[in-house]
Amino acid sequence: MEERKGQDPDPCYLREFDARVTERGPDYVVLDRTAFYAEGGGQPTDIGVLRWPGGEARVLRVAKEKGVIKHVLDAMPASDEVHGVIDWDRRYAHMRYHTSQHLMSGLVWKIFGARTVGNQLYADRARVDFQPAAFTPEDLARIEGECNRTVEAAQDVRIFEEDRVAVDHKIGDRSLLDLIPQSIRRLRVIQVGTADYCPCGGTHVRNTAELGRVKIVERRSKGKETDRITYELVR
Ligand SMILES: [Zn+2]
Repeated sequence: MEERKGQDPDPCYLREFDARVTERGPDYVVLDRTAFYAEGGGQPTDIGVLRWPGGEARVLRVAKEKGVIKHVLDAMPASDEVHGVIDWDRRYAHMRYHTSQHLMSGLVWKIFGARTVGNQLYADRARVDFQPAAFTPEDLARIEGECNRTVEAAQDVRIFEEDRVAVDHKIGDRSLLDLIPQSIRRLRVIQVGTADYCPCGGTHVRNTAELGRVKIVERRSKGKETDRITYELVR
């Protein structure tokens, strides 16, 4: 969740870390620090392992409940000092799909004035729901083309905090800030080059060149002026 300001390694690219167990549940542990991403915002959970001298447990799922990040395990650690390792191939795929989803959402907002009203990403595809929308084949070709122009331009992806009022003013109807509790006054913003600016708690790649080409594979009407676009990233 940290800002991106040239750290090495970048917070989103941290694959391994040391931590201490601070709480034990029937099938989970809470750690004093973690690099595991808890399922949320359309991005699936990270999986991986926790190791300790002489043993290891698989991290099956990571969930955030009332602000507490629970690592669901297949075995309980014999030690309170653990070393976490994230399944990096899966996480990096999620990062590429999440950043590309912002890219497409931002461009569709700019070109068609259609808002993103839902999204789900996986390690091999993503889908985004836009409203109001009734995309023609020409529209889809244009969306694909605009996305890929940004990929080819190799633009930086910035992550920083900004005051909620300023964010609200800048994004207009691009995203629904109402869903974020009023008590939160500083928001984590993801800026994808010149294509998008949106608050988000997800993990993102550093540069659009990492995404690969966007290939739209399906457009389906979901009724209520809502269109669902499913796409893949092709390297
Ligand atoms: Zn996001």
